[in-house]
Amino acid sequence: MSSTPARIPVRGGRSTYEVLLGPGLISSLGQSLRSLGMDGRAALISDASVLQHWGLFARESLSAAGFQVTTIALPPGEATKTYRAAEPIYGQLIEAGFTREDTVVALGGGVIGDLAGFVAATYHRGMGLVHVPTTLLAQVDSSIGGKVAVDHPLGKNLIGSFHPPRAVICDPRVLSTLPARERWSGLAEIVKAALIADERFVQSLEQDLDMIGNGGANESRLTEVIERAVRIKARVVSEDEHERGPRANLNFGHTVGHALEAAAGYGPLTHGEAIVIGMRVALEVSAQLGRCSAADAARALALLSRFPGPPPLVRPTHDAVVAAIRRDKKVRNGAVRFVVLAGLGKADVEPAISDELLSLAVDRALDEFPERDIPAR
Ligand code: NAD
Repeated sequence: MSSTPARIPVRGGRSTYEVLLGPGLISSLGQSLRSLGMDGRAALISDASVLQHWGLFARESLSAAGFQVTTIALPPGEATKTYRAAEPIYGQLIEAGFTREDTVVALGGGVIGDLAGFVAATYHRGMGLVHVPTTLLAQVDSSIGGKVAVDHPLGKNLIGSFHPPRAVICDPRVLSTLPARERWSGLAEIVKAALIADERFVQSLEQDLDMIGNGGANESRLTEVIERAVRIKARVVSEDEHERGPRANLNFGHTVGHALEAAAGYGPLTHGEAIVIGMRVALEVSAQLGRCSAADAARALALLSRFPGPPPLVRPTHDAVVAAIRRDKKVRNGAVRFVVLAGLGKADVEPAISDELLSLAVDRALDEFPERDIPAR
Protein backbone atom coordinates (compact mmCIF):
# COMPACT_ATOMS: atom_id res chain seq x y z
CA MET A 1 0.00 0.00 0.00
CA SER A 2 1.33 3.41 -0.91
CA SER A 3 0.20 5.62 2.00
CA THR A 4 -1.72 5.66 5.26
CA PRO A 5 -5.43 5.29 4.52
CA ALA A 6 -7.81 8.13 5.23
CA ARG A 7 -10.35 7.27 7.96
CA ILE A 8 -13.70 8.97 7.54
CA PRO A 9 -16.24 8.45 10.35
CA VAL A 10 -19.93 7.85 9.64
CA ARG A 11 -22.53 7.83 12.41
CA GLY A 12 -25.11 5.10 11.85
CA GLY A 13 -27.80 4.11 14.31
CA ARG A 14 -26.26 3.34 17.68
CA SER A 15 -22.77 2.89 16.25
CA THR A 16 -20.12 4.77 14.33
CA TYR A 17 -18.19 3.12 11.55
CA GLU A 18 -15.38 4.28 9.34
CA VAL A 19 -14.70 4.45 5.66
CA LEU A 20 -11.06 3.42 5.23
CA LEU A 21 -9.85 4.88 1.96
CA GLY A 22 -6.55 4.27 0.20
CA PRO A 23 -4.99 2.66 -2.89
CA GLY A 24 -4.06 -1.00 -2.33
CA LEU A 25 -6.35 -1.55 0.68
CA ILE A 26 -7.89 -4.66 -0.90
CA SER A 27 -4.61 -6.51 -0.38
CA SER A 28 -4.78 -5.91 3.37
CA LEU A 29 -8.53 -6.46 3.69
CA GLY A 30 -8.16 -9.34 6.14
CA GLN A 31 -5.82 -7.38 8.40
CA SER A 32 -8.17 -4.37 8.36
CA LEU A 33 -11.05 -6.57 9.52
CA ARG A 34 -8.93 -8.19 12.23
CA SER A 35 -7.86 -4.79 13.51
CA LEU A 36 -11.55 -3.94 13.83
CA GLY A 37 -12.06 -7.00 16.03
CA MET A 38 -13.60 -9.33 13.45
CA ASP A 39 -12.68 -12.99 13.12
CA GLY A 40 -14.28 -16.37 12.36
CA ARG A 41 -16.16 -16.95 9.13
CA ALA A 42 -16.41 -14.50 6.25
CA ALA A 43 -18.93 -14.81 3.41
CA LEU A 44 -17.35 -13.10 0.43
CA ILE A 45 -20.40 -12.15 -1.66
CA SER A 46 -19.63 -10.76 -5.10
CA ASP A 47 -20.49 -10.93 -8.78
CA ALA A 48 -18.74 -12.97 -11.43
CA SER A 49 -17.07 -9.98 -13.18
CA VAL A 50 -15.73 -8.49 -9.99
CA LEU A 51 -14.49 -11.85 -8.73
CA GLN A 52 -12.62 -12.41 -11.98
CA HIS A 53 -10.59 -9.23 -11.40
CA TRP A 54 -10.41 -8.85 -7.63
CA GLY A 55 -11.67 -12.09 -6.03
CA LEU A 56 -8.24 -13.57 -5.49
CA PHE A 57 -6.89 -10.44 -3.75
CA ALA A 58 -9.82 -10.36 -1.35
CA ARG A 59 -9.96 -14.10 -0.69
CA GLU A 60 -6.21 -14.50 -0.11
CA SER A 61 -6.08 -11.52 2.18
CA LEU A 62 -9.01 -12.79 4.26
CA SER A 63 -7.57 -16.33 4.47
CA ALA A 64 -4.11 -15.03 5.38
CA ALA A 65 -5.68 -13.14 8.28
CA GLY A 66 -7.27 -16.38 9.56
CA PHE A 67 -10.82 -16.08 8.22
CA GLN A 68 -12.66 -19.18 7.00
CA VAL A 69 -13.89 -17.86 3.67
CA THR A 70 -17.04 -18.96 1.81
CA THR A 71 -17.19 -17.31 -1.62
CA ILE A 72 -20.63 -16.70 -3.09
CA ALA A 73 -20.67 -15.61 -6.76
CA LEU A 74 -23.75 -14.05 -8.32
CA PRO A 75 -24.52 -12.96 -11.87
CA PRO A 76 -23.69 -9.25 -12.47
CA GLY A 77 -26.49 -6.73 -12.97
CA GLU A 78 -29.59 -5.25 -11.39
CA ALA A 79 -31.63 -8.41 -12.15
CA THR A 80 -29.66 -10.13 -9.36
CA LYS A 81 -30.92 -7.73 -6.68
CA THR A 82 -34.00 -9.73 -5.70
CA TYR A 83 -35.31 -11.71 -2.79
CA ARG A 84 -35.15 -14.76 -5.05
CA ALA A 85 -31.37 -14.33 -5.33
CA ALA A 86 -31.10 -13.86 -1.55
CA GLU A 87 -32.74 -17.18 -0.69
CA PRO A 88 -29.96 -19.55 -1.85
CA ILE A 89 -27.43 -17.27 -0.12
CA TYR A 90 -29.20 -17.89 3.20
CA GLY A 91 -28.98 -21.62 2.40
CA GLN A 92 -25.23 -21.46 1.83
CA LEU A 93 -24.72 -19.51 5.07
CA ILE A 94 -26.78 -22.03 7.05
CA GLU A 95 -24.97 -25.01 5.53
CA ALA A 96 -21.57 -23.45 6.23
CA GLY A 97 -22.58 -22.83 9.86
CA PHE A 98 -22.57 -19.01 9.85
CA THR A 99 -23.72 -17.31 13.05
CA ARG A 100 -24.49 -13.67 13.80
CA GLU A 101 -20.90 -13.28 15.06
CA ASP A 102 -19.60 -13.89 11.52
CA THR A 103 -19.21 -11.37 8.71
CA VAL A 104 -20.59 -10.74 5.26
CA VAL A 105 -18.05 -9.04 3.00
CA ALA A 106 -19.82 -7.36 0.07
CA LEU A 107 -17.28 -7.07 -2.75
CA GLY A 108 -18.84 -5.25 -5.69
CA GLY A 109 -20.92 -2.36 -6.93
CA GLY A 110 -24.19 -1.08 -5.50
CA VAL A 111 -26.10 -4.17 -6.59
CA ILE A 112 -23.89 -6.49 -4.52
CA GLY A 113 -23.69 -4.00 -1.63
CA ASP A 114 -27.48 -3.71 -1.43
CA LEU A 115 -28.17 -7.45 -1.81
CA ALA A 116 -25.37 -8.74 0.45
CA GLY A 117 -26.31 -5.99 2.92
CA PHE A 118 -29.92 -7.15 2.87
CA VAL A 119 -28.78 -10.72 3.59
CA ALA A 120 -26.56 -9.49 6.44
CA ALA A 121 -29.44 -7.44 7.87
CA THR A 122 -31.82 -10.40 7.94
CA TYR A 123 -29.71 -13.54 8.52
CA HIS A 124 -30.05 -14.48 12.21
CA ARG A 125 -31.74 -11.06 12.66
CA GLY A 126 -28.59 -9.24 11.64
CA MET A 127 -24.92 -10.12 11.29
CA GLY A 128 -21.76 -8.10 10.65
CA LEU A 129 -21.34 -6.44 7.27
CA VAL A 130 -18.28 -4.94 5.58
CA HIS A 131 -18.57 -3.14 2.28
CA VAL A 132 -15.71 -3.34 -0.21
CA PRO A 133 -17.14 -1.16 -2.98
CA THR A 134 -15.69 -1.73 -6.46
CA THR A 135 -17.56 0.82 -8.59
CA LEU A 136 -17.06 4.56 -8.31
CA LEU A 137 -20.76 4.89 -7.53
CA ALA A 138 -20.55 2.38 -4.70
CA GLN A 139 -17.40 4.01 -3.29
CA VAL A 140 -18.85 7.52 -3.07
CA ASP A 141 -22.50 6.73 -2.55
CA SER A 142 -24.17 3.35 -2.06
CA SER A 143 -21.75 1.84 0.49
CA ILE A 144 -22.23 4.79 2.87
CA GLY A 145 -25.37 5.41 4.85
CA GLY A 146 -26.60 1.96 5.84
CA LYS A 147 -29.41 1.49 3.31
CA VAL A 148 -29.78 -2.09 2.08
CA ALA A 149 -32.49 -3.43 -0.19
CA VAL A 150 -33.71 -5.79 -2.84
CA ASP A 151 -36.01 -4.94 -5.73
CA HIS A 152 -39.59 -6.21 -6.04
CA PRO A 153 -41.25 -6.89 -9.41
CA LEU A 154 -43.44 -3.84 -8.68
CA GLY A 155 -40.57 -1.46 -7.93
CA LYS A 156 -36.93 -0.91 -7.10
CA ASN A 157 -35.56 -1.02 -3.53
CA LEU A 158 -39.03 -1.64 -2.08
CA ILE A 159 -37.92 -4.35 0.37
CA GLY A 160 -35.09 -3.26 2.61
CA SER A 161 -33.77 -1.94 5.84
CA PHE A 162 -31.14 0.25 7.47
CA HIS A 163 -28.16 -1.94 8.38
CA PRO A 164 -24.96 0.08 8.83
CA PRO A 165 -21.77 -1.78 7.98
CA ARG A 166 -18.97 -2.31 10.51
CA ALA A 167 -16.60 -0.72 8.01
CA VAL A 168 -16.28 0.36 4.41
CA ILE A 169 -12.95 -0.57 2.82
CA CYS A 170 -12.54 1.66 -0.20
CA ASP A 171 -9.65 1.01 -2.61
CA PRO A 172 -9.51 3.32 -5.67
CA ARG A 173 -7.11 0.88 -7.36
CA VAL A 174 -9.95 -1.58 -8.01
CA LEU A 175 -11.51 1.02 -10.30
CA SER A 176 -8.75 0.37 -12.86
CA THR A 177 -10.87 -2.43 -14.37
CA LEU A 178 -14.16 -0.53 -14.30
CA PRO A 179 -15.78 0.10 -17.72
CA ALA A 180 -15.79 3.79 -18.77
CA ARG A 181 -19.57 4.06 -18.75
CA GLU A 182 -19.65 2.93 -15.09
CA ARG A 183 -16.89 5.43 -14.24
CA TRP A 184 -18.93 8.32 -15.66
CA SER A 185 -21.97 7.00 -13.80
CA GLY A 186 -20.17 7.31 -10.46
CA LEU A 187 -18.76 10.68 -11.45
CA ALA A 188 -22.32 11.97 -11.77
CA GLU A 189 -22.85 11.31 -8.04
CA ILE A 190 -19.55 13.07 -7.30
CA VAL A 191 -20.66 16.17 -9.22
CA LYS A 192 -23.99 16.02 -7.40
CA ALA A 193 -22.19 15.94 -4.04
CA ALA A 194 -20.11 18.96 -5.05
CA LEU A 195 -23.11 20.93 -6.35
CA ILE A 196 -25.16 20.45 -3.19
CA ALA A 197 -22.39 20.90 -0.64
CA ASP A 198 -19.06 22.37 -1.75
CA GLU A 199 -18.48 25.19 -4.22
CA ARG A 200 -14.68 24.74 -4.14
CA PHE A 201 -15.11 21.11 -5.06
CA VAL A 202 -17.22 22.26 -8.04
CA GLN A 203 -14.36 24.57 -9.06
CA SER A 204 -11.81 21.77 -8.87
CA LEU A 205 -14.00 19.40 -10.94
CA GLU A 206 -14.36 22.11 -13.56
CA GLN A 207 -10.58 21.76 -14.09
CA ASP A 208 -10.35 18.04 -14.84
CA LEU A 209 -13.76 16.39 -15.04
CA ASP A 210 -13.03 14.90 -18.47
CA MET A 211 -9.71 13.45 -17.37
CA ILE A 212 -11.35 11.72 -14.39
CA GLY A 213 -14.25 10.43 -16.51
CA ASN A 214 -11.94 9.15 -19.21
CA GLY A 215 -9.79 7.28 -16.70
CA GLY A 216 -6.73 9.52 -17.13
CA ALA A 217 -6.56 11.01 -13.62
CA ASN A 218 -3.61 9.79 -11.56
CA GLU A 219 -4.18 7.71 -8.43
CA SER A 220 -3.69 10.56 -5.99
CA ARG A 221 -6.16 12.86 -7.77
CA LEU A 222 -8.71 10.04 -8.06
CA THR A 223 -8.29 9.24 -4.36
CA GLU A 224 -8.67 12.92 -3.46
CA VAL A 225 -11.89 13.27 -5.46
CA ILE A 226 -13.34 10.11 -3.91
CA GLU A 227 -12.38 11.32 -0.43
CA ARG A 228 -14.10 14.69 -0.89
CA ALA A 229 -17.29 13.03 -2.11
CA VAL A 230 -17.20 10.41 0.66
CA ARG A 231 -16.78 13.14 3.28
CA ILE A 232 -19.85 14.96 1.97
CA LYS A 233 -22.04 11.84 1.99
CA ALA A 234 -20.66 10.74 5.38
CA ARG A 235 -21.42 14.14 6.90
CA VAL A 236 -24.95 14.32 5.52
CA VAL A 237 -25.99 10.80 6.52
CA SER A 238 -24.40 11.18 9.95
CA GLU A 239 -26.66 14.18 10.52
CA ASP A 240 -29.76 12.37 9.32
CA GLU A 241 -29.55 8.59 9.12
CA HIS A 242 -33.22 7.97 8.36
CA GLU A 243 -33.68 10.66 5.71
CA ARG A 244 -36.00 12.97 7.62
CA GLY A 245 -34.04 16.18 7.04
CA PRO A 246 -30.81 17.20 5.29
CA ARG A 247 -30.29 13.73 3.74
CA ALA A 248 -33.09 14.63 1.33
CA ASN A 249 -30.66 17.03 -0.39
CA LEU A 250 -28.75 14.00 -1.66
CA ASN A 251 -31.76 13.44 -3.91
CA PHE A 252 -30.81 16.42 -6.06
CA GLY A 253 -31.53 15.30 -9.65
CA HIS A 254 -33.10 12.07 -8.42
CA THR A 255 -36.83 12.91 -8.61
CA VAL A 256 -36.69 12.99 -12.39
CA GLY A 257 -33.62 10.70 -12.63
CA HIS A 258 -35.20 7.79 -10.75
CA ALA A 259 -38.40 8.18 -12.75
CA LEU A 260 -36.48 8.06 -16.05
CA GLU A 261 -34.72 4.88 -14.95
CA ALA A 262 -38.03 3.31 -13.96
CA ALA A 263 -39.90 4.40 -17.09
CA ALA A 264 -37.03 3.24 -19.33
CA GLY A 265 -37.19 -0.15 -17.59
CA TYR A 266 -33.93 -0.36 -15.56
CA GLY A 267 -30.98 -1.29 -17.71
CA PRO A 268 -30.85 0.96 -20.81
CA LEU A 269 -29.67 3.95 -18.72
CA THR A 270 -26.98 3.90 -16.04
CA HIS A 271 -27.97 5.59 -12.79
CA GLY A 272 -25.50 8.38 -13.54
CA GLU A 273 -26.87 9.01 -17.02
CA ALA A 274 -30.37 9.31 -15.56
CA ILE A 275 -29.37 11.69 -12.79
CA VAL A 276 -27.30 13.91 -15.08
CA ILE A 277 -30.54 14.54 -16.99
CA GLY A 278 -32.38 14.86 -13.66
CA MET A 279 -29.87 17.44 -12.39
CA ARG A 280 -30.08 19.47 -15.59
CA VAL A 281 -33.84 19.63 -15.23
CA ALA A 282 -33.61 20.38 -11.50
CA LEU A 283 -31.29 23.31 -12.32
CA GLU A 284 -33.80 24.74 -14.74
CA VAL A 285 -36.55 24.35 -12.13
CA SER A 286 -34.30 26.02 -9.52
CA ALA A 287 -33.71 29.00 -11.85
CA GLN A 288 -37.42 29.25 -12.76
CA LEU A 289 -38.41 29.28 -9.09
CA GLY A 290 -35.85 32.01 -8.50
CA ARG A 291 -33.93 29.78 -6.08
CA CYS A 292 -30.66 29.86 -8.00
CA SER A 293 -28.99 32.69 -9.94
CA ALA A 294 -28.81 32.34 -13.71
CA ALA A 295 -25.00 32.48 -13.50
CA ASP A 296 -24.73 29.61 -10.99
CA ALA A 297 -27.25 27.51 -12.94
CA ALA A 298 -25.30 28.14 -16.16
CA ARG A 299 -22.02 27.04 -14.54
CA ALA A 300 -23.55 23.87 -13.19
CA LEU A 301 -25.21 23.13 -16.54
CA ALA A 302 -21.89 23.62 -18.34
CA LEU A 303 -20.24 21.07 -16.05
CA LEU A 304 -23.05 18.57 -16.64
CA SER A 305 -22.93 19.09 -20.40
CA ARG A 306 -19.44 17.50 -20.36
CA PHE A 307 -20.89 14.09 -19.49
CA PRO A 308 -21.34 11.67 -22.39
CA GLY A 309 -25.08 11.18 -23.02
CA PRO A 310 -26.75 7.79 -22.90
CA PRO A 311 -26.82 5.67 -26.04
CA PRO A 312 -29.91 6.05 -28.23
CA LEU A 313 -32.88 4.32 -26.65
CA VAL A 314 -36.63 4.15 -26.90
CA ARG A 315 -37.94 7.33 -25.29
CA PRO A 316 -40.41 6.67 -22.43
CA THR A 317 -43.72 8.51 -22.66
CA HIS A 318 -44.42 11.72 -20.73
CA ASP A 319 -47.22 10.01 -18.78
CA ALA A 320 -45.01 7.05 -17.82
CA VAL A 321 -42.39 9.41 -16.36
CA VAL A 322 -44.98 11.49 -14.46
CA ALA A 323 -46.56 8.28 -13.10
CA ALA A 324 -43.12 7.04 -11.97
CA ILE A 325 -42.47 10.35 -10.18
CA ARG A 326 -45.82 10.08 -8.37
CA ARG A 327 -45.03 6.51 -7.21
CA ASP A 328 -41.66 7.59 -5.81
CA LYS A 329 -40.88 7.33 -2.09
CA LYS A 330 -40.07 11.08 -2.13
CA VAL A 331 -43.76 11.99 -2.70
CA ARG A 332 -45.48 13.08 0.55
CA ASN A 333 -49.30 13.27 0.71
CA GLY A 334 -49.47 13.52 -3.07
CA ALA A 335 -47.08 16.51 -3.23
CA VAL A 336 -43.93 16.12 -5.32
CA ARG A 337 -40.92 17.32 -3.34
CA PHE A 338 -38.10 18.59 -5.46
CA VAL A 339 -34.53 19.29 -4.41
CA VAL A 340 -33.43 22.62 -5.85
CA LEU A 341 -30.03 24.24 -6.01
CA ALA A 342 -29.90 27.41 -3.94
CA GLY A 343 -26.47 28.38 -5.31
CA LEU A 344 -23.30 26.42 -6.02
CA GLY A 345 -22.64 24.18 -3.02
CA LYS A 346 -26.09 24.67 -1.50
CA ALA A 347 -29.32 22.70 -1.89
CA ASP A 348 -32.79 23.00 -0.49
CA VAL A 349 -36.07 21.11 -0.66
CA GLU A 350 -39.06 22.61 -2.45
CA PRO A 351 -41.90 20.81 -0.62
CA ALA A 352 -44.46 20.86 -3.45
CA ILE A 353 -43.91 21.86 -7.04
CA SER A 354 -46.92 22.63 -9.22
CA ASP A 355 -48.29 20.08 -11.70
CA GLU A 356 -47.54 22.58 -14.45
CA LEU A 357 -43.86 22.91 -13.54
CA LEU A 358 -43.56 19.15 -13.09
CA SER A 359 -45.00 18.55 -16.55
CA LEU A 360 -42.59 21.09 -18.04
CA ALA A 361 -39.66 19.44 -16.23
CA VAL A 362 -40.60 16.04 -17.64
CA ASP A 363 -40.85 17.48 -21.16
CA ARG A 364 -37.39 18.99 -20.78
CA ALA A 365 -35.98 15.67 -19.53
CA LEU A 366 -37.44 13.80 -22.49
CA ASP A 367 -35.95 16.39 -24.88
CA GLU A 368 -32.53 15.24 -23.65
CA PHE A 369 -33.05 11.67 -24.86
CA PRO A 370 -31.21 10.63 -27.97
CA GLU A 371 -34.16 8.77 -29.44
CA ARG A 372 -33.84 5.41 -31.10
CA ASP A 373 -36.45 4.41 -33.65
CA ILE A 374 -38.95 2.00 -32.22
CA PRO A 375 -38.15 -1.25 -34.03
CA ALA A 376 -40.76 -2.20 -36.65
CA ARG A 377 -42.61 -5.40 -35.77
P1 NAD B 1 -23.51 -2.50 -10.34
O1 NAD B 1 -23.33 -2.97 -8.97
O2 NAD B 1 -24.51 -3.21 -11.19
O3 NAD B 1 -22.10 -2.53 -11.10
C1 NAD B 1 -22.03 -2.12 -12.44
C2 NAD B 1 -21.26 -3.13 -13.29
O4 NAD B 1 -19.86 -2.96 -13.03
C3 NAD B 1 -21.57 -4.59 -13.01
O5 NAD B 1 -21.66 -5.26 -14.24
C4 NAD B 1 -20.36 -5.10 -12.23
O6 NAD B 1 -20.10 -6.46 -12.46
C5 NAD B 1 -19.25 -4.23 -12.80
N1 NAD B 1 -18.13 -3.99 -11.90
C6 NAD B 1 -18.19 -3.60 -10.61
N2 NAD B 1 -16.97 -3.33 -10.15
C7 NAD B 1 -16.10 -3.57 -11.14
C8 NAD B 1 -14.70 -3.46 -11.27
N3 NAD B 1 -13.93 -2.98 -10.29
N4 NAD B 1 -14.14 -3.83 -12.46
C9 NAD B 1 -14.91 -4.28 -13.49
N5 NAD B 1 -16.25 -4.35 -13.43
C10 NAD B 1 -16.84 -4.01 -12.27
O7 NAD B 1 -23.89 -0.95 -10.41
P2 NAD B 1 -23.63 0.29 -9.43
O8 NAD B 1 -23.84 1.47 -10.28
O9 NAD B 1 -22.39 0.16 -8.65
O10 NAD B 1 -24.83 0.19 -8.37
C11 NAD B 1 -26.17 0.40 -8.74
C12 NAD B 1 -27.04 -0.08 -7.60
O11 NAD B 1 -26.75 0.67 -6.45
C13 NAD B 1 -28.53 0.05 -7.87
O12 NAD B 1 -29.17 -1.16 -7.55
C14 NAD B 1 -28.95 1.14 -6.88
O13 NAD B 1 -30.28 0.97 -6.44
C15 NAD B 1 -27.96 0.95 -5.78
N6 NAD B 1 -27.77 2.15 -4.94
C16 NAD B 1 -27.89 2.00 -3.60
C17 NAD B 1 -27.70 3.09 -2.77
C18 NAD B 1 -27.79 2.93 -1.28
O14 NAD B 1 -27.75 3.93 -0.56
N7 NAD B 1 -27.87 1.72 -0.78
C19 NAD B 1 -27.38 4.34 -3.32
C20 NAD B 1 -27.24 4.45 -4.70
C21 NAD B 1 -27.44 3.33 -5.51
